[in-house]
Amino acid sequence: MNAISVKEYVNLEKERIKGLIQAQSLSLSLGIVQVGHVPSSDAYIKGKMKDANELGIKAVLFHYEEDISEEALAREVVGLGKRKDIDGLIVQLPLPKHINEKAITSLVPSNKDIDGFGIDSPFTPCTPKGIVDYLSDLGFAFRGKNAVVIGRSSIVGKPLSHLLLSKDMNVTVLHSKTTKEDTAFYIAHADLICVAVGHKWLIDHTYNFKKDAVIIDVGINRGEDKHLYGDVEPNMPVYLQTPVPGGVGLLTRLSLLKNLLEAKTHGI
Ligand code: NAD
Repeated sequence: MNAISVKEYVNLEKERIKGLIQAQSLSLSLGIVQVGHVPSSDAYIKGKMKDANELGIKAVLFHYEEDISEEALAREVVGLGKRKDIDGLIVQLPLPKHINEKAITSLVPSNKDIDGFGIDSPFTPCTPKGIVDYLSDLGFAFRGKNAVVIGRSSIVGKPLSHLLLSKDMNVTVLHSKTTKEDTAFYIAHADLICVAVGHKWLIDHTYNFKKDAVIIDVGINRGEDKHLYGDVEPNMPVYLQTPVPGGVGLLTRLSLLKNLLEAKTHGI
């Protein structure tokens, strides 16, 4: 397996996608819906717009005030979904508490739902897709190997476990009710450990790892010192561990671009 870092991999992939866009003279456009200003959302949107800009993709932010009603936002999203000049449309989460997120995201037409959140979306959710594409390109041998996925959310843990299962891995999903003893048992036997919980250094040096294991750290936790920390303590004695920041976040953003390209070229 080729241990290319996430940063190097993402830069190469972005160059490849840029080349594809230029070779086919494609004009791609991404619409981003944001309500209010959650600091982490502002940062994620800035990253997505920067990526788009680098690749010659038009990204347009549709920003609404924090107190917009669910009905009014729904009308806006339906309207944006109909626009021919928008190829991919995403709703930045979280939305304010008075708005039902599922109700709003389900209004994004499935052929533009490049986040892959809707049940009818033909697109794979970005974080799991980014992880599996990265591992595939590294030459990770999935078949028959043991994967542990910690976290069972509908945007990361569950779709990731299904993708790994489709790669013929033996997948164990752990969650908030799993005991520390059982977590230690499964981790000790794992070839791939994916942690998506949202708990700084939940997995640390007190666990035993296979020395050729791969750790994918999805967690993003802001410490009291304002720095970002993963769900896994850095520098565990394994073959490869993705860093936080500069790891899965970049893979997620890359997947969004890939899904956008697919939305345009496959006319899904
Ligand atoms: P979530 O809150 O929806 O789900 C967390 C999951 O962790 C739940 O399924 C819960 O059962 C499990 N859990 C809670 N405590 C646990 C414990 N002690 N042991 C084992 N499992 C436990 O979160 P999410 O949306 O899946 O996100 C998880 C983390 O990943 C967050 O830090 C989030 O910010 C981050 N995230 C990062 C990216 C990225 O692009 N890097 C994308 C999505 C989410």
